[in-house]
Amino acid sequence: MKRAIYPGSFDPVTFGHVDMIERSAKMVDELVVAVLINSAKNPLFSVKERVSMLDEITGHIPNIRITSFDGLLIDYAREVDASIIVRGLRAVTDFEYELQIAQTNRIVNSKVDTVFLTTSLEYAYLSSTIVKEVASYGGDISHFVPEQLIGRIYEKYSRE
Ligand code: ADP
Repeated sequence: MKRAIYPGSFDPVTFGHVDMIERSAKMVDELVVAVLINSAKNPLFSVKERVSMLDEITGHIPNIRITSFDGLLIDYAREVDASIIVRGLRAVTDFEYELQIAQTNRIVNSKVDTVFLTTSLEYAYLSSTIVKEVASYGGDISHFVPEQLIGRIYEKYSRE
Protein backbone atom coordinates (compact mmCIF):
# COMPACT_ATOMS: atom_id res chain seq x y z
CA MET A 1 0.00 0.00 0.00
CA LYS A 2 1.36 3.38 -1.00
CA ARG A 3 0.81 5.80 1.85
CA ALA A 4 1.77 9.48 1.94
CA ILE A 5 1.77 11.97 4.74
CA TYR A 6 0.88 15.63 4.21
CA PRO A 7 1.97 17.59 7.27
CA GLY A 8 1.26 21.18 8.15
CA SER A 9 -0.01 23.72 10.61
CA PHE A 10 -3.36 24.26 8.82
CA ASP A 11 -4.07 27.28 11.02
CA PRO A 12 -6.57 27.70 9.38
CA VAL A 13 -7.13 25.41 6.40
CA THR A 14 -7.20 27.30 3.09
CA PHE A 15 -8.19 26.49 -0.48
CA GLY A 16 -4.47 26.02 -1.12
CA HIS A 17 -4.42 23.13 1.38
CA VAL A 18 -7.63 21.64 -0.02
CA ASP A 19 -6.12 21.72 -3.51
CA MET A 20 -2.96 19.98 -2.27
CA ILE A 21 -5.00 17.33 -0.45
CA GLU A 22 -7.25 16.59 -3.42
CA ARG A 23 -4.34 16.32 -5.82
CA SER A 24 -2.08 14.20 -3.63
CA ALA A 25 -4.87 11.83 -2.50
CA LYS A 26 -5.27 10.82 -6.15
CA MET A 27 -1.65 9.69 -6.32
CA VAL A 28 -1.61 7.28 -3.38
CA ASP A 29 -3.66 4.56 -1.73
CA GLU A 30 -3.94 6.49 1.49
CA LEU A 31 -3.17 10.08 2.43
CA VAL A 32 -2.54 10.91 6.06
CA VAL A 33 -3.05 14.61 6.70
CA ALA A 34 -1.14 15.38 9.88
CA VAL A 35 -1.57 18.50 11.98
CA LEU A 36 1.64 19.52 13.63
CA ILE A 37 1.41 20.08 17.38
CA ASN A 38 3.86 22.95 17.57
CA SER A 39 4.10 24.54 20.97
CA ALA A 40 6.54 27.17 19.70
CA LYS A 41 3.94 28.83 17.49
CA ASN A 42 0.95 30.59 18.98
CA PRO A 43 -1.88 29.16 16.89
CA LEU A 44 -5.30 30.71 16.32
CA PHE A 45 -6.99 27.29 16.39
CA SER A 46 -6.30 24.41 18.73
CA VAL A 47 -5.04 21.15 17.24
CA LYS A 48 -8.44 19.60 17.90
CA GLU A 49 -10.19 22.41 16.04
CA ARG A 50 -7.82 22.09 13.10
CA VAL A 51 -8.32 18.33 12.89
CA SER A 52 -12.08 18.80 12.93
CA MET A 53 -11.90 21.52 10.22
CA LEU A 54 -9.87 19.18 8.03
CA ASP A 55 -12.28 16.32 8.71
CA GLU A 56 -15.22 18.46 7.67
CA ILE A 57 -13.83 19.73 4.41
CA THR A 58 -12.35 16.43 3.22
CA GLY A 59 -15.47 14.32 3.74
CA HIS A 60 -15.71 13.81 -0.05
CA ILE A 61 -12.28 12.13 -0.26
CA PRO A 62 -12.43 8.42 0.59
CA ASN A 63 -8.74 7.52 1.03
CA ILE A 64 -7.84 10.06 3.65
CA ARG A 65 -7.10 10.07 7.37
CA ILE A 66 -6.68 13.16 9.54
CA THR A 67 -4.32 12.96 12.50
CA SER A 68 -2.05 15.11 14.62
CA PHE A 69 1.53 14.56 15.68
CA ASP A 70 4.19 15.82 17.99
CA GLY A 71 7.94 15.66 17.51
CA LEU A 72 9.85 14.89 14.34
CA LEU A 73 7.91 14.42 11.12
CA ILE A 74 10.28 11.74 9.88
CA ASP A 75 9.63 9.66 13.00
CA TYR A 76 5.89 10.10 12.61
CA ALA A 77 6.12 9.07 8.93
CA ARG A 78 7.68 5.81 10.09
CA GLU A 79 5.04 5.38 12.77
CA VAL A 80 2.18 5.57 10.24
CA ASP A 81 4.19 3.59 7.68
CA ALA A 82 4.27 6.36 5.06
CA SER A 83 6.94 6.24 2.36
CA ILE A 84 6.16 9.68 0.95
CA ILE A 85 6.01 13.14 2.49
CA VAL A 86 3.98 15.65 0.46
CA ARG A 87 4.78 19.35 0.64
CA GLY A 88 3.58 22.30 -1.39
CA LEU A 89 5.81 24.79 -3.14
CA ARG A 90 4.40 28.24 -3.66
CA ALA A 91 7.41 30.39 -4.38
CA VAL A 92 11.17 30.45 -4.37
CA THR A 93 11.00 31.46 -0.73
CA ASP A 94 9.40 28.08 0.14
CA PHE A 95 12.01 26.22 -1.85
CA GLU A 96 15.19 26.83 0.11
CA TYR A 97 13.73 25.83 3.45
CA GLU A 98 11.84 22.86 2.05
CA LEU A 99 14.91 21.55 0.22
CA GLN A 100 16.94 21.64 3.41
CA ILE A 101 14.26 19.81 5.41
CA ALA A 102 13.73 17.21 2.68
CA GLN A 103 17.44 16.47 2.45
CA THR A 104 17.78 16.24 6.21
CA ASN A 105 14.85 13.85 6.40
CA ARG A 106 16.34 11.66 3.71
CA ILE A 107 19.55 11.35 5.63
CA VAL A 108 17.65 10.37 8.75
CA ASN A 109 15.47 7.86 6.91
CA SER A 110 16.31 7.04 3.27
CA LYS A 111 13.13 4.99 2.90
CA VAL A 112 11.00 8.12 2.97
CA ASP A 113 10.97 10.50 0.01
CA THR A 114 9.61 14.03 -0.10
CA VAL A 115 7.43 14.89 -3.07
CA PHE A 116 6.69 18.52 -3.89
CA LEU A 117 3.55 19.68 -5.61
CA THR A 118 3.71 23.11 -7.17
CA THR A 119 0.86 25.31 -6.15
CA SER A 120 -2.11 25.80 -8.45
CA LEU A 121 -1.78 29.26 -9.95
CA GLU A 122 -4.99 30.58 -8.42
CA TYR A 123 -3.68 29.82 -4.91
CA ALA A 124 -0.05 30.78 -5.39
CA TYR A 125 -0.41 33.83 -3.15
CA LEU A 126 -2.45 32.13 -0.46
CA SER A 127 -1.26 31.30 3.04
CA SER A 128 -2.87 30.83 6.46
CA THR A 129 -1.06 33.98 7.56
CA ILE A 130 -2.76 36.06 4.84
CA VAL A 131 -6.15 34.66 5.85
CA LYS A 132 -5.57 35.61 9.51
CA GLU A 133 -4.36 39.07 8.56
CA VAL A 134 -7.44 39.81 6.42
CA ALA A 135 -9.86 38.24 8.93
CA SER A 136 -8.39 40.22 11.81
CA TYR A 137 -9.52 43.41 10.05
CA GLY A 138 -12.93 41.95 9.23
CA GLY A 139 -12.07 41.65 5.52
CA ASP A 140 -13.65 39.24 3.04
CA ILE A 141 -12.01 35.80 3.28
CA SER A 142 -14.48 33.94 1.07
CA HIS A 143 -11.91 33.63 -1.72
CA PHE A 144 -9.42 31.99 0.62
CA VAL A 145 -11.16 29.37 2.75
CA PRO A 146 -14.08 26.92 2.42
CA GLU A 147 -17.41 28.55 3.20
CA GLN A 148 -18.17 26.42 6.26
CA LEU A 149 -15.01 27.70 8.01
CA ILE A 150 -15.59 31.42 7.54
CA GLY A 151 -17.75 31.99 10.63
CA ARG A 152 -15.35 30.09 12.86
CA ILE A 153 -12.42 32.22 11.75
CA TYR A 154 -14.18 35.56 12.32
CA GLU A 155 -15.39 34.31 15.69
CA LYS A 156 -11.80 34.00 16.90
CA TYR A 157 -11.28 37.71 16.36
CA SER A 158 -14.61 38.87 17.72
CA ARG A 159 -13.81 37.37 21.14
CA GLU A 160 -10.63 39.38 21.55
P1 ADP B 1 3.71 24.71 7.64
O1 ADP B 1 3.73 25.53 8.89
O2 ADP B 1 4.19 23.31 7.81
O3 ADP B 1 4.28 25.36 6.40
P2 ADP B 1 1.14 25.22 6.45
O4 ADP B 1 -0.18 24.87 7.02
O5 ADP B 1 1.43 26.66 6.25
O6 ADP B 1 2.16 24.51 7.39
O7 ADP B 1 1.34 24.50 5.06
C1 ADP B 1 1.30 23.10 4.96
C2 ADP B 1 1.77 22.69 3.58
O8 ADP B 1 0.87 23.19 2.61
C3 ADP B 1 3.15 23.23 3.19
O9 ADP B 1 3.80 22.26 2.41
C4 ADP B 1 2.82 24.44 2.35
O10 ADP B 1 3.85 24.71 1.41
C5 ADP B 1 1.57 23.97 1.66
N1 ADP B 1 0.73 25.09 1.25
C6 ADP B 1 0.22 26.06 2.02
N2 ADP B 1 -0.49 26.95 1.28
C7 ADP B 1 -0.42 26.51 0.01
C8 ADP B 1 -0.91 27.00 -1.25
N3 ADP B 1 -1.60 28.13 -1.32
N4 ADP B 1 -0.63 26.29 -2.36
C9 ADP B 1 0.09 25.14 -2.27
N5 ADP B 1 0.61 24.64 -1.14
C10 ADP B 1 0.36 25.31 -0.02
